[in-house]
Amino acid sequence: MKVIPDEFLIDAHHWLILHGRYVCKARQPDCPQCVIRDLCQFKDKTAA
Ligand code: SF4
Repeated sequence: MKVIPDEFLIDAHHWLILHGRYVCKARQPDCPQCVIRDLCQFKDKTAA
């Protein structure tokens, strides 16, 4: 909440949930399709 501008706070909540549900899935994240791959520091990214 400290880094998200006020006007995006409500939407950001949903974006994070949807990102976890459809892209960054717990068992096998879809890193090749991820739009924040370049920012993500997870060391074991999945390959295409
Ligand atoms: S690049 Fe990072 S944030 Fe994106 S799906 Fe992979 S682990 Fe998740």
